[in-house]
Amino acid sequence: RAKEMGKNRCVRFDASMNQAVVRRQAIEHALRAALQQGEGLALHYQPLFAASDRTLVGAEALLRWSHAELGNVSPLEAVMVAEDCGLIVPLGYWVMRTACRDAAQWQAGGPLRVSVNISARQLGDPQFLERVMDILREEGLPAHLLEIELTETVLMDNMEAGAHTLHRLSQLGIHLAIDDFGTGYSSLAYLRQLPMRRLKIDRSFVKDLPGQEHSRTIVTAIVALAHGLGLQITAEGVETPEQADYLVRQGCDVLQGYLFARPMPVGEFQAQLQEGTARRGV
Ligand code: C2E
Ligand code: MG
Ligand code: MG
Ligand code: MG
Repeated sequence: RAKEMGKNRCVRFDASMNQAVVRRQAIEHALRAALQQGEGLALHYQPLFAASDRTLVGAEALLRWSHAELGNVSPLEAVMVAEDCGLIVPLGYWVMRTACRDAAQWQAGGPLRVSVNISARQLGDPQFLERVMDILREEGLPAHLLEIELTETVLMDNMEAGAHTLHRLSQLGIHLAIDDFGTGYSSLAYLRQLPMRRLKIDRSFVKDLPGQEHSRTIVTAIVALAHGLGLQITAEGVETPEQADYLVRQGCDVLQGYLFARPMPVGEFQAQLQEGTARRGV
């Protein structure tokens, strides 16, 4: 009987493995087509606000993909598959170009920075630096109005080749940020060796503020670490006024979260800019 259960479990395991493989292949196939036809892919933008006076200082570009059969595919899943099959390089350049093109349009009413997420294989692409500089020039966005967000895992995977690229990007004026700080292999060596401008405190540390003592301790320590090194701090995932108050009192520089604004289609973001409801400035 035990043997039979074991066997059943094994069969079920195989079936779910198989399902995962089938889904992966479907996503890969659909993504390839989406990139060729430029269909179904979009960027949404989530506004970023200065903690001190709630001035709009920028927006983070977030990938959205909706497909006829697959429905809405989350950016994390799309990026994971794209990393595995190599499509991340063209997908990443599509994101970079679209974000820079959109951001170039926003500059009429005052400077606003756009933040773009990149993944490991993008940074590993030997052409990365050159391609990004080409995109900025072609789309007419000044380098200092682009911020690139990398996770600790991306840095881990590219320590040697990546460091050179990151120094060059920084010298050319592009801002660099560590995303989801504290959730990866937080090697403090990165902070000393790489030209980072900003740490983004992961949502998981913000979630239980201000009630949970451990979250408070971690946030206080990250802010002190960042400011001690001359880096700015963004808190992501701010959902309540209590969280915002606490983060402001701790000295966070920039706030991002549903409390202020959700990610929105580019047209909506641009309409809000034109209404001029938010004061702005980098
Ligand atoms: P991330 O870079 O840390 O982006 C922030 C995520 O938190 C976004 O999820 C955003 O919608 C969500 N968020 C913002 N404020 C709140 C809040 O107050 N509450 C909650 N619960 N969530 C909030 P999203 O758009 O689903 O993206 C997930 C992740 O996918 C991103 O995390 C990023 O790692 C990755 N990603 C998204 N777009 C791209 C892209 O173009 N390229 C790459 N390589 N990765 C991307
Ligand atoms: Mg990010
Ligand atoms: Mg983040
Ligand atoms: Mg995150």
